[in-house]
Amino acid sequence: MSRVRSLPAPIDLHTHSRVSDGTETPAELMAAAAEAGLGTVALTDHDTTAGWVEAAAAVPTTGVALIPGMELSTRVDWSSVHMLAYLIDPEAPGLLAETQRIREARLHRAEEMVASIARDYDIGWEDVVAQTEPGATVGRPHIADALVARGLARTRSDAFAGILHWRAGYYQPHYAPSPLLGVQLVRAAGGVPVLAHPATRSRADIALSSMIGDLVDAGLFGLEIDHRENTPEGRERLLALSKRYGLALTGSSDYHGSGKPNRLGENTTDPAVLDTLIESATGSAPVLP
Ligand code: AMP
Ligand code: FE
Ligand code: FE
Ligand code: ZN
Repeated sequence: MSRVRSLPAPIDLHTHSRVSDGTETPAELMAAAAEAGLGTVALTDHDTTAGWVEAAAAVPTTGVALIPGMELSTRVDWSSVHMLAYLIDPEAPGLLAETQRIREARLHRAEEMVASIARDYDIGWEDVVAQTEPGATVGRPHIADALVARGLARTRSDAFAGILHWRAGYYQPHYAPSPLLGVQLVRAAGGVPVLAHPATRSRADIALSSMIGDLVDAGLFGLEIDHRENTPEGRERLLALSKRYGLALTGSSDYHGSGKPNRLGENTTDPAVLDTLIESATGSAPVLP
């Protein structure tokens, strides 16, 4: 059997653009990936594939290979669980309907959070709109940017640590499917599901460990082990789960431009793991330079 040539390393499988809560356009992100010396990058905006076309158009000029992806919002009780979805068919009806539902729920939830913040601080919905690319998946980062623009927080991260923290009393969850439905929808769309940063000491981590067998049965491919927010003990647990269930392990930056300290290529994925991931996908294909 002839093997396909591996995609160029270094490989960073988790990044965001302005199509969700990153600060760069998809084209700027691809240029930044070239600048950072990456060979391959995955664009994984929250609950949308709207950035794929622009990112793909930048492949020939930047020379960086693109893995089209998405970070799907799922939920266990009140905590959110993020699922990376690679090489999906962007038009698969089940996943498309679900991501539309999530984006609408995120919008309403952001409006409600801002209305509640506005009772105590001088900020309005128009401030958030001014920080958001039309059509983008709205999240707390856009509210954070509005708080910064209003002088109510120094940086995005400060806003997250303050007014936007769940302890501050303005936090609201939003609708998202269960992780099991997430895996099913991603596989039905021909994509490859990988749990994003699954060991960050969130309340969902423990619940996740107990459902991992079911997720594997439904087609879970891997765990994002090398991510700055995974704790050392959490990584040990992920390593054990990977051995027990035969799950692949990935690493990535979760780059959000200037919105987060995460730098492109700070964690990377083994080319052999990406080979297997690509072999497991039928929804769409990598874009090669
Ligand atoms: P949300 O999903 O709306 O509750 O917002 C959480 C999202 O904010 C996650 O996807 C984080 O990656 C993102 N985020 C972006 N910038 C920051 C930051 N500076 N600090 C914390 N989270 C951030
Ligand atoms: Fe994000
Ligand atoms: Fe995430
Ligand atoms: Zn992310």
